Amino acid sequence: MQYIDPLNIQCKHCKNFRNYSLIELKKTNVCCKFCGESLAYVNFEMEAKQKELVIEMWPGNFIFDGFDAFDLDLELISESEFDNIKNISDLIEVITSNIDSDKNVEDYFVSLNILEPLLKCNNYKDVFLMDLSEVARFTCTNE
Ligand SMILES: [Zn+2]
Repeated sequence: MQYIDPLNIQCKHCKNFRNYSLIELKKTNVCCKFCGESLAYVNFEMEAKQKELVIEMWPGNFIFDGFDAFDLDLELISESEFDNIKNISDLIEVITSNIDSDKNVEDYFVSLNILEPLLKCNNYKDVFLMDLSEVARFTCTNE
């Protein structure tokens, strides 16, 4: 996510607006130019928002990567089929039903590095039934 630089910020304390450069806002000692109150929370909120966005995008990217790994043509997948992929188990089912080869799709996901931290402490069958947004939250906060 790109922010406008400088960014127009309203101080929560004195309610005055002013432009601050992104570099300024990254400093932990950044203060309101009017009242001197700390604006450190602005950067914190921006980072939190950025993280949310990454988590939001994660399931879609994960699904596309899975299709890619099996050379699956996206055209073959209907929109409703795509929308119904709520967890890895669903994804495995869609991939399996759309490829000719007898490759073990499940094995591929079990061996994925990105899932390793989750698979280390959970049964893979449970992980595969977790909502993808939950998996996203877990893998993204572990980075
Ligand atoms: Zn202020």
